[in-house]
Amino acid sequence: MEAVGFQRGLNHLLYLGVDIGVMVTDRSPSIRKLMRESYVNIRHEYDPWHVNKSLKKKLVTVSKKKDHRELLPWVRSINNHLYWSCSSSHGDEEECVRRWKSVLHHIRGIHRWEDNGREYKCAHPPLTEEDQEKKRWLEHDSAAFRALKELVLEKTLLRDLRQMALFKHTGSLEAFHNVTLKYAPKRLHFTYDSMRARTELAIMDYNVNVGRQHKTLEGKPQYKYMYTKTTQQWVAKPVYEATSQLFRHDLMEGVLKMREERSLEPLPRPPPRPRRLLSNIAPVPRPDPSELVAQRLSRFKQL
Ligand SMILES: [Zn+2]
Repeated sequence: MEAVGFQRGLNHLLYLGVDIGVMVTDRSPSIRKLMRESYVNIRHEYDPWHVNKSLKKKLVTVSKKKDHRELLPWVRSINNHLYWSCSSSHGDEEECVRRWKSVLHHIRGIHRWEDNGREYKCAHPPLTEEDQEKKRWLEHDSAAFRALKELVLEKTLLRDLRQMALFKHTGSLEAFHNVTLKYAPKRLHFTYDSMRARTELAIMDYNVNVGRQHKTLEGKPQYKYMYTKTTQQWVAKPVYEATSQLFRHDLMEGVLKMREERSLEPLPRPPPRPRRLLSNIAPVPRPDPSELVAQRLSRFKQL
């Protein structure tokens, strides 16, 4: 269904004449295949957030093993390094991969190295002697480093990195989906008309609240501090201005005004829809209730 919806939406945009150079999605195999086969002229990129999330999960799992513990304090830096590799390589796929792999040097406290006769160095400013002493670098022959190396050089990750070099995000789409959940929770069933109206409300809500500013106090940006269970570290998250729901008032006022002016007629109540759902999923008819009760009671007796 996702692939069908995706294709319809994309075809519609192309039909409208929108010039699409890059399409950013998660790594869903069906979308991948579709892009590769049917839209060869559109560059397909993956959202780094999705890739980073699955990498983080693997890193945390690995670093929970007894002889990999030294890796845990590095998890967040490694995740940041992945973002940095994508954001700083300006669409150059090879450079993105090279930058990513450089983590294997830095994490051992090596900030200059040679590769194929060329000298490379870390992009960070030189470390002070104290920094170099204090940091808990990984040992070259440690189990933790070997485990990390395996994850960093994983074939599928290196392949996907080549499609992340433009550093494009689907974050706003995720945020929109979050707003949609407020109007149309996934666990409830809505009719088509209702779903459409709820999606339209979500669009209005999202559009009036998009681009909210990072909240400041006396000129200083505000953060909230949270402890994350996965990496067992404290993190700072920006605090944004509160959302506004005033559009609802405008909407209601507009509707009332149109009714007063009689430019809007109430829609006739739709006829009740027949229930097409079965009352249960059982493939065999229900036995007599007295039989079921007797079974339950006999089970109790056995206890
Ligand atoms: Zn370094």
